[in-house]
Amino acid sequence: MTASQTQPHASRYPAGAQAFPHRDLLGIGQLERHEILFLLDEAEQWVDLNRQRQKHSDSLAGLTIINAFFENSTRTLLSFEIAGKRLGADVVNMHAAQSSVKKGETLIDTAITLNAMRADAIVIRHGSSGATGLIADKVDCPVLNAGDGQHEHPTQALLDALALRHALRERGQSGDDFTGLTITICGDILHSRVARSNLLCLQALGATVRLCAPPALMPSGIEAMGAQVFHDFDAALDGADVVMMLRLQTERMSGQFIPSAREYHYLYGLTAARLAKAGEGALVMHPGPMNRGVEIDSDVADMIDRSIITRQVEMGVAIRMAALDVLTRRTRGVAGWRETA
Ligand code: ASP
Repeated sequence: MTASQTQPHASRYPAGAQAFPHRDLLGIGQLERHEILFLLDEAEQWVDLNRQRQKHSDSLAGLTIINAFFENSTRTLLSFEIAGKRLGADVVNMHAAQSSVKKGETLIDTAITLNAMRADAIVIRHGSSGATGLIADKVDCPVLNAGDGQHEHPTQALLDALALRHALRERGQSGDDFTGLTITICGDILHSRVARSNLLCLQALGATVRLCAPPALMPSGIEAMGAQVFHDFDAALDGADVVMMLRLQTERMSGQFIPSAREYHYLYGLTAARLAKAGEGALVMHPGPMNRGVEIDSDVADMIDRSIITRQVEMGVAIRMAALDVLTRRTRGVAGWRETA
């Protein structure tokens, strides 16, 4: 049996393709709790592999994966590329800056072009919310959303959950489920796809989620998604078990949303003194890229026993391997995954 045919913790989810009956991974909003757990459990084998000297599997040998990135990226693009290569696939990166998109080609034409090249999976990052769904409707292979505008960034939320699970386990806590945990997400909630995907994912796994931002950077009506809303960072931190900091998404802002970076740091920056207001030993997370001295101070970002920021990056590769492996099982005819369309 190959690694991709195993089902760790099989009692938690239905057998075979029913464990993950989706062709695409477009958002956490489309997933059931057991489907999230399935992807997290599947990623564990890849965490182990990635810690070996020999990090190669041939599960996806012969398949072609196209990473089509219409927005800048460091971590996500690199980790999808590494993930595909470690699984033995041929990986091609398309950067919008060098593509015909700059010549005015529509998104639909780009999608049709990618489809004609017979990719076996397409990973897309795009500046418009819903763009990945639009492409998924036009192509024949699985589509993975690597961030679409302000909408969703599902693999980021999954890797955050995996990093948190590992950190909790190391502390002797179960880490399997986040029931009883209070997680504060602070920053530019309005423009953040990471906040949206994490809210959905963390709540599905049982956590209480607090969102904190200045009023101008908080989406109206977000309470309806079950979040507790704060504008006072100290109050939002009180007793929190995890603090996730987000960058100001200046590239998505039209107009003045904050008076100055200095004032923003004063009110919403995570300093060591502020972190002391959270629960004892609270963990610190950030999806990157960080603006040190704005939303987070260096001494907090680099705290060895509290910050799990580099672990988030590590888990990103494993989660993306799991997503690529699971979504291509039907194409590969993996036993138990053939029967569903
Ligand atoms: N890297 C994350 C994203 O693509 C967070 C950020 O850019 O601030 O959304």
